[in-house]
Amino acid sequence: MNKILIVEDEIAISDLIKIELESKGYRCDVANDGETGANYMEKNKYDLLLLDIMLPKIDGYELLEYNRETSQTPCIFITAKGETNDKIKGLTNGADDYITKPFELGELVARVEAVLRRYNKVNEVYKIDNIKVNISTRTVMKDEKNVMLTPKEFDLLVLLLQNKNYALYRETIFEKVWGAELEFETRTLDLHIQRLRKKLDLKDKIKTVYKIGYMLEV
Ligand code: CA
Repeated sequence: MNKILIVEDEIAISDLIKIELESKGYRCDVANDGETGANYMEKNKYDLLLLDIMLPKIDGYELLEYNRETSQTPCIFITAKGETNDKIKGLTNGADDYITKPFELGELVARVEAVLRRYNKVNEVYKIDNIKVNISTRTVMKDEKNVMLTPKEFDLLVLLLQNKNYALYRETIFEKVWGAELEFETRTLDLHIQRLRKKLDLKDKIKTVYKIGYMLEV
């Protein structure tokens, strides 16, 4: 799930943005002054920053500069009307986008999604028939019902999905899912494949490829 930091000193606006983005499935932290914003940036990892420019204590430009030196998180500036002159545009060059107050929430969401897409941070969801696999939340749904997978079963499923219709060698699968430091155990792998087939009813789709390994055929 994508995490967004909102730094905006007008509480009515920051609350509105938070409610809207959370309704779209994002997780949001809110800071109402620049110093709190910088503290959050230091402590947490965000997928996107929404920064107001005129802020108490530390302004949006300084936060952008701080971000550039530290995490280089994608950033959208929130500017007030009248701030969007050439000078501001020059200064916001390091940001990925900016939006001028007052704005429609729908427009803000569209810009947030566009920037996240540019950085490939959009929630990745794979679908096979009635199965949905969400990479960000590590959840699997079958017929709209949650299916509990172990972490290794999940990693194995994602690997098969990312290589669908390609036969993967047993050794390669084991190394990618269990790590190269572990000694290859065909029994462990075969058991996990059996569990996946059973839990997700994929007996016909996860094929055993003779002398090679496995393939998800879709
Ligand atoms: Ca402000």
